[in-house]
Amino acid sequence: MINHRYLGNSGLRISELTLGNWVTAGGQVGRDRAVEVVQAALDAGITTFDTADTYMNGAAESILGEALHGQRRASLEVFTKVYFPTGPKGPNDTGLSRKHIMESIDASLQRLRTDYVDLYQAHRYDHDTPLEETMQAFADVVRAGKALYIGVSEWTADQLRAGHALAQDLGIQLISNQPQYSALWRVIEGEVIPTSRELGISQIVWSPLAQGVLTGKYRPGAAVPEGSRATDHKGGGSRFIERFLTEDILLAVQRLEPIAAGQGLTMAQLGLAWVLHNDAVAAALIGASRPEQVAENVRASGVELDGATMAAIDEALAPVAITDPAETEKVSPRHRLV
Ligand code: NDP
Repeated sequence: MINHRYLGNSGLRISELTLGNWVTAGGQVGRDRAVEVVQAALDAGITTFDTADTYMNGAAESILGEALHGQRRASLEVFTKVYFPTGPKGPNDTGLSRKHIMESIDASLQRLRTDYVDLYQAHRYDHDTPLEETMQAFADVVRAGKALYIGVSEWTADQLRAGHALAQDLGIQLISNQPQYSALWRVIEGEVIPTSRELGISQIVWSPLAQGVLTGKYRPGAAVPEGSRATDHKGGGSRFIERFLTEDILLAVQRLEPIAAGQGLTMAQLGLAWVLHNDAVAAALIGASRPEQVAENVRASGVELDGATMAAIDEALAPVAITDPAETEKVSPRHRLV
């Protein structure tokens, strides 16, 4: 079964492999397949599920709500997010204003068919709304019993520090950050992780397999596999994965093949075990377009990679891994999108 880790400086434990449904549920894959993927996760012992109001404009939350319906609520940890445009994408259907947070949480709970989420996350930093307004709204959401804990996504070290201080003043717990992190994308190591450690904030990391690239299935010079994210236009996956599909990255990833084989692991399991080796990480947030991927990937839980193996992976990817802390700042738009 799957190990659980504490989320930040809190008593909440989450499964160290957590299932997300970005681009897949209601996009690349239809409702039936998405429900099968959730069932595979439940069967494997995953208890933590992540989604967002903006994924397929609410459809991904609805599918997750349907897939989890009938499960014992106290045995699950359900996470969602707010910030990116939703619904008709009007001027107040976006951002971290009090108005949008209050309306978005209610819509999310309805779609998810639950009275509360365990973690409510600011999907990005909102440069157009005073942070005090956002944190006060989050505090009211928590006091209303609609969310138990607060998290953020892709905030810089300074933004985390400021948000955490306000949360403390308001008596609520800001316990997590959700950044991109993988053996190919290491930008949080320099600033975000050290600051988070100091503040008692965990990382729940997205695209731990670089959207599938670290499975080794995209081969340099070859056509992308049929049905893979690189071919997905409905969920938008092909656009997001593009950055990793360069000749030099794909060649470097091939160098992981013998390392994985030497450990008796698939490349996907090796990539996830690399992420979970970092104790600042509470969970690797995996995606899946089919149930078999979940069954394969959950076997990374509990795998211990020794120092020599970690060093071999780092060396193989060093020429192409992205490490610049300034990348985090670029992810939150300077102004709201609508
Ligand atoms: P991953 O890096 O785990 O990529 C998942 C994709 O890789 C799968 O959908 C599948 O794509 C492929 N894959 C996975 N396992 C295997 C395998 N064993 N063999 C072959 N292919 C495999 O994570 P995601 O990019 O999906 O992100 C995970 C979650 O992170 C999201 O669902 C979301 O919850 C969160 N997220 C958060 C963001 C944020 O801003 N906070 C941004 C992005 C994601 P396929 O089969 O189609 O090739």
